Amino acid sequence: MLVALFVCGCSSSGVPRVSGTSPARAPAILFPLAADSVRFTSGFGDPRAGGRTHHGQDLFCAKWTPILAVVNGTVDWIASGRPKNGKSYSILLRGDDGNQYFYDHLNNDNPGTKDNLGDPDLAYAPGMHDGARVTAGEIIGYVGDSGDAEASGPHLHFEIHLRSWDDPVDPGPALHAALARRDASSGRRSRP
Ligand SMILES: [Zn+2]
Repeated sequence: MLVALFVCGCSSSGVPRVSGTSPARAPAILFPLAADSVRFTSGFGDPRAGGRTHHGQDLFCAKWTPILAVVNGTVDWIASGRPKNGKSYSILLRGDDGNQYFYDHLNNDNPGTKDNLGDPDLAYAPGMHDGARVTAGEIIGYVGDSGDAEASGPHLHFEIHLRSWDDPVDPGPALHAALARRDASSGRRSRP
């Protein structure tokens, strides 16, 4: 049975952030993880070190969980191991819907290790490169703890930017709607 837990593990606010986002600011997407159990933790707008703001939702699940394209689009910003606590991997998906979807903390560990030295083929699905065309639901990468996620553990940091990179919105409403649609179509329930 599908179980989606909505808790606030590392959120400094203590409550889930679901802002008053209008439907127009919650694009219709597929859920970005092929996982039955996902834990929503740190939310949109939470403060970060150095005065930064958290511009996404953190979705905790098992390491190596397949990451999916949420819409049809073009892959961009594939990092070939930019240095940040070892190698660090992320994807920007430029959706055909005009929006931008950012995925961070893809896997950087060789199997059975936490060495942060994994090559790109352990972060990205085969065939992923800048400019690659992907279809909604296609596997594009794998969950990990690269970047600054080493301490918090494997999770997907997911952002939605409407049209412009300068317009990040809370992905929460779109993600919850995506889960509900997925569960309805599969006949499963997202909550006990
Ligand atoms: Zn995050």
